Amino acid sequence: MSQEIISLAQRVLQVPPSPTLAVNAKAKALKAAGEDILNFSVGEPDFATPKHVCEAGKKAIDDGHTGYTAVPGIPELREAVCMRLKEDHGWEYTPEQIQVSCGGKHGLYNIFQAILDPGDEVLIPAPYWVSYPPMVQLAGGVPVPIDLDESLDFDLNPETLTTHATDKTKAIFLNSPSNPTGAILSETALKAVAKMALEHGWLIVTDDIYETVTYMEGDLPHILDVEPRLKEQTIILNGVSKSFAMTGWRIGYCAGPAHIIKAMNKVQSQSTSNPCTPAQYAALTALTGSQDFPETMKEAFIPRREFFVKELESIEGVTCVNPSGAFYVFPNFSAYYGKSFKGKQINDSVAMSDYFLDEAKVASVPGAAFGSDEFVRFSFATSMEVIKEGMERIKMALAALEG
Ligand code: PMP
Ligand code: GLU
Repeated sequence: MSQEIISLAQRVLQVPPSPTLAVNAKAKALKAAGEDILNFSVGEPDFATPKHVCEAGKKAIDDGHTGYTAVPGIPELREAVCMRLKEDHGWEYTPEQIQVSCGGKHGLYNIFQAILDPGDEVLIPAPYWVSYPPMVQLAGGVPVPIDLDESLDFDLNPETLTTHATDKTKAIFLNSPSNPTGAILSETALKAVAKMALEHGWLIVTDDIYETVTYMEGDLPHILDVEPRLKEQTIILNGVSKSFAMTGWRIGYCAGPAHIIKAMNKVQSQSTSNPCTPAQYAALTALTGSQDFPETMKEAFIPRREFFVKELESIEGVTCVNPSGAFYVFPNFSAYYGKSFKGKQINDSVAMSDYFLDEAKVASVPGAAFGSDEFVRFSFATSMEVIKEGMERIKMALAALEG
């Protein structure tokens, strides 16, 4: 065994690697080794990037767009982001208020590097996407989870805001539709957030990456529509990973107050320089071309979601809130905690998810990774055949538990 001469930074030691990516890697490795694994772990559209977008990426290379670009991204792409925000939402932004980054995840990372001082607190409604707390911690901040209630369909209870806010609160995360619950925040909840944010000068970080995947009627409620005065203290995070099945191209973007974007650009200039150049051109085509693709994907998700939720709800002891958006189901398996298989007791979501992988060959992500241990997450960005087979295996695995 190699000796570890160099110690690691506390900053890094306090955070785990991304659990979604870790489970996905494990599932893929097992599959490559010949195991019959059904992979419901990572949240990645099971669609190829649209052809016209791929062509734009190839053309960019052929046209010689292979050098560095401006730190916040090519001007045309930032203008295209402004155009989408205006056309889709009626919000006015200028290119100085936009940063393009190496995926949405990197945009979030830049935000917290730019705004947090040690000890600053960030409110994070839980269940949350796995990377929110570590990104806050890596910037020296303190994540403060606010538990959301399954019985309220994971909407934010306004009273919980006051009980978690302190004079160190600097920012709050909003993610609607949510990963992992699929919940959409109500206007009532958003109004309560807006009131507190205006009163206390919080930054709102609204992660809108699933905005094109909603199953509700009517418009998706948004903090900037509920309270337009919040524009100077809101950063919108979005990207093409989910909407155009472009996870591997690594293009995300932020829109927000110019002075914060400028500070984020400083962070980006000292780290990645700029997002991948040909990928920026591909994203430009995605944002300026036909917007039908996200709708096509959504049409495919609808029957899968319906089937998955209905099947899960039919299992005794399991509850599952119907996701209003995104492509995840987040069933509560806690009624099965305490039961055993071959003498081994299952007491939490990690053990439950391991059990599904070991005995049912079904890969999922434990709720603990999202701050909610009663649940397990399954992505339904996979075929109906896989979902049907997976459901059979999950049911059999649960039925085999004793005690
Ligand atoms: N926010 C949420 C809620 C997500 O699920 C993801 C998925 N990876 C991201 C942000 C970032 O996406 P990406 O870095 O792939 O653009
Ligand atoms: N957002 C996706 C997920 O939650 C992709 C993996 C990741 O970036 O964490 O599965």
